[in-house]
Amino acid sequence: MAKIRLDHLTKQFGDVVAVDDVTLEVADREFLTLLGPSGCGKTTTLNIIAGLETRTSGTVWFDGDEVTHVPPEQRDIAMVFQTYALYPHMKVFDNIAFGLRMRNVPKSDVEKRVLLAARTMDIEHLIQRKPRELSGGQRQRVALARAIVRDPKVFLLDEPLSNLDAQLRVIMRTELKRLHAELDKTFVYVTHDQAESLIMSDRIVVMKAGGIQQVGTPDEIYNQPTNTFVATFVGSPPINLLEGNLKRINESTGQVTGAGFTCEMNPLLMKRLSHSATTSVRLGIRPEDIEVGTVRTPTAQATVAVREPMGSDLYLTLDIQGRSIKARTRPDVRIDRGEVVPIYFDSNKLHLFDGETGRTLLEG
Ligand code: ATP
Repeated sequence: MAKIRLDHLTKQFGDVVAVDDVTLEVADREFLTLLGPSGCGKTTTLNIIAGLETRTSGTVWFDGDEVTHVPPEQRDIAMVFQTYALYPHMKVFDNIAFGLRMRNVPKSDVEKRVLLAARTMDIEHLIQRKPRELSGGQRQRVALARAIVRDPKVFLLDEPLSNLDAQLRVIMRTELKRLHAELDKTFVYVTHDQAESLIMSDRIVVMKAGGIQQVGTPDEIYNQPTNTFVATFVGSPPINLLEGNLKRINESTGQVTGAGFTCEMNPLLMKRLSHSATTSVRLGIRPEDIEVGTVRTPTAQATVAVREPMGSDLYLTLDIQGRSIKARTRPDVRIDRGEVVPIYFDSNKLHLFDGETGRTLLEG
């Protein structure tokens, strides 16, 4: 069992607040991802969990025991970094075995465990090679095998796929997901890649400037973002945000109007609308939730400014009275640049944010 709790954790480097009052629980055997832009405090948080960094205030708990001052080697964790950190002069076998030998594990056990870890990562055939004779993806597999062989309670992974090319990253994220299911251990994973976080995590912690913006399942983060920062950080192409005015017509009907568009709100959305909702709002609609060339009452008339065929999808940049938005449609939609088309925002998929604070105006 390995449950982790961070309680009002703060870390300052001089004037810089790297981690700002973070309180968080990682469930036993959960795959939890810390997601956010560069410099938001992900690595510092992970390093404090590992014991590699001291905190300024707050506490760290493993399974109900406070470990704030416990050194890393006594925390039963294994870390995997972006840079692999393999010993260049040692063969793969010895790289994987190193930690076990340091702990005086008997020789026969070392061999058994190294081979098992190598098999799990599908690198058995490489164990006699030196790191320089391996590709980036293979090196990262060795780094993972070195973590697995320790059989720790917790895996801490800091952007382990960032050095790999795009194609390999796609393969390795599936591998990591498989590994998590197979090992059945707690994983805390750091990334700035929103797609990675959506694909792999049980829950995502979105961070900004040292603080937590939202904690939720990938579905909650994507479909119920708590503010415009989370809404725009997660999703590609990003969500469209349009400034508008909200008008409640009655209990179950309302409208958001803005430059060149009128968006009807359905009763379900009206039910979720916060009672304190302001009139000045930002309407959010994801590219895939825009119907281009609609036969319904259109939300707007838009001019096609750019067509970007993506193979499986077609991205359209649409102009609504000088405001640019992005729509994602089927690849076989026949629309040319310069054409004016009616578009419809799916009223089940609308997001509404406070025009000033950017906080969601939808509840539940
Ligand atoms: P990245 O994705 O770029 O690695 P991050 O989200 O992991 O970023 P951190 O590395 O945790 O962010 O850094 C958080 C903040 O703390 C940044 O402003 C960074 O410059 C600062 N910081 C981190 N380590 C130190 C240090 N040792 N000394 C001074 N400032 C630091």
